[in-house]
Amino acid sequence: MYSEFGTLPPPAPTATLMADLQAAIAEDLRPNLREIDEGGKYPRAFLERVGAIGGFRQGTPTALGGAGNGLRYTIQIMEEISRDCLSTGFCYWCHTVCAWYAQTGGSDFLKQEILPRLTSGQMLGATGMSNPMKHFAGIEKIRLTATRCDGGYQINGALPWVSNAVSDGCFGAVARIAGTDGDYLMAIIPARSSGLELGDGGHFIALEGSSTHNAIFRDVFLPDEWVLAAPCAEYIARIRPGFMLTQSGFGLGLVRGCIDLMKRSNDRVGHVNCYLEDGAERIETDLKQTQETIYALADEIGCGDQAAARSPRDLTRDVVRARLSTSELALRASQAAMLHCGAGGYRAGSIAERKLRESYFVAVVTPAMKHLKKVLHDLETPLS
Ligand SMILES: Cc1cc2nc3c(=O)[nH]c(=O)nc-3n(C[C@H](O)[C@H](O)[C@H](O)COP(=O)(O)OP(=O)(O)OC[C@H]3O[C@@H](n4cnc5c(N)ncnc54)[C@H](O)[C@@H]3O)c2cc1C
Repeated sequence: MYSEFGTLPPPAPTATLMADLQAAIAEDLRPNLREIDEGGKYPRAFLERVGAIGGFRQGTPTALGGAGNGLRYTIQIMEEISRDCLSTGFCYWCHTVCAWYAQTGGSDFLKQEILPRLTSGQMLGATGMSNPMKHFAGIEKIRLTATRCDGGYQINGALPWVSNAVSDGCFGAVARIAGTDGDYLMAIIPARSSGLELGDGGHFIALEGSSTHNAIFRDVFLPDEWVLAAPCAEYIARIRPGFMLTQSGFGLGLVRGCIDLMKRSNDRVGHVNCYLEDGAERIETDLKQTQETIYALADEIGCGDQAAARSPRDLTRDVVRARLSTSELALRASQAAMLHCGAGGYRAGSIAERKLRESYFVAVVTPAMKHLKKVLHDLETPLS
């Protein structure tokens, strides 16, 4: 169907990729920050440019047309983008995690036909996994149902929020399989499916440029080839560490952006900012420590194509702790940035104000801090 597989450009050396990324940020992202944040402009052209320079293929194995560099690079690219714009960094995460689903799932069609379109940026990917992640953590009921039919499933239900959702894209989702004893399937859903409607996701205090929509399913036919796993319990346990860990990229990038702000403010009023406990140096030390932990975990996960060195339970515990520290640090850093900038930061439309609003997203997007703390509590409860 699609001929791109096997004809992708060779992997870009990382230094070149980062230089290309910096140029894309300077030319296509930074000039649009206000329009993205206040006007809800979705930065599609920027994201497509990131795809064209090789920014979406770092965490995909070479055997599947990727660069084979592992999730460390995915996280670092996300950090660079989120340093300027968390909303766009989150879009980058939504897209790359959708590719993560395709490359780790059991469908050859998705690996060979759809994954190359995602890793090259020709198709935009998203994820509607908050509901199942919360469902499997015992927080809420599953919202989609799949009924077996000839050649696939019919899906009904609604997801309240899917970001980076575009009408010619696709997104990952989970549905309960009707008529089974609690089995679920995970699939990638083409947004152009008949019966699927992407509606208005409402307004938020930040992330307005993230193309966030609700997704209503009315007898949506999903062909078998789009199914990643059915049943999907083992598959979800396998992909969850990568799902959660890579989110740290947008949190860490935001922290770096807050440090930039603090340093700029110190040039002006450092003589009084120095009395604040959370200064630029202290936040920077904590950022470095968190990055080290996260990069080590990312290297352990790699591209998700090697046998894990330890049990998913042990890896998940460390990933949850690291993801939690990212949220805590993002909140601390955005507060510190506001305190450093003072009245200048308190002006409507200031960068410090945007960082403050954005940082709460790191802490409330699934898995939210309360969700992570629940998972940690459950993981630390000995198995009976
Ligand atoms: C800007 C933005 C973008 C987003 N993008 C995405 C995305 O791309 N993909 C995605 O999947 N999600 C997305 N989300 C959703 C997000 O990840 C969270 O899932 C969402 O914010 C809800 O989390 P919460 O912590 O508020 O829910 P919680 O507070 O954890 O929700 C509690 C759940 O429990 C239920 N409940 C309430 N009372 C009870 C009770 N007594 N017993 C049992 N259950 C009860 C509620 O109905 C609710 O569903 C986005 C959200 C925002 C704001």
